[in-house]
Amino acid sequence: MPLCSTGGDCTCVRFDVVASCSHLETIHFELPEQVAGCEECMRIGASWVHLRLCRECGKVSCCDDSPNRHATEHFHETNHAIIRSAEPGEQWSWCYVDQVAFIADFPTEKDR
Ligand SMILES: [Zn+2]
Ligand SMILES: [Zn+2]
Ligand SMILES: [Zn+2]
Repeated sequence: MPLCSTGGDCTCVRFDVVASCSHLETIHFELPEQVAGCEECMRIGASWVHLRLCRECGKVSCCDDSPNRHATEHFHETNHAIIRSAEPGEQWSWCYVDQVAFIADFPTEKDR
């Protein structure tokens, strides 16, 4: 993924989302207050590196640096296009279909 690996407040993932992604209407979930871990990894007793949140169904899964790559697997199984980082301090979302990263937080999250 062409995402900035420095994480945090890096601005290099703030792309023009409106022009490049046609799946914004599939965003139904925002990051919950607490994320326990990758649902699939916890089920099979595996470990993960980073966590991702599916913004269409709210499923938490693991990134491509993780051994089981459940976020990518979830996309292939469901065609849910957009995930979001579930890592502390990371706000970017990623569309698997359009291959773009962007910030797409709900207004309520900024108000917190
Ligand atoms: Zn898209
Ligand atoms: Zn996993
Ligand atoms: Zn999903």
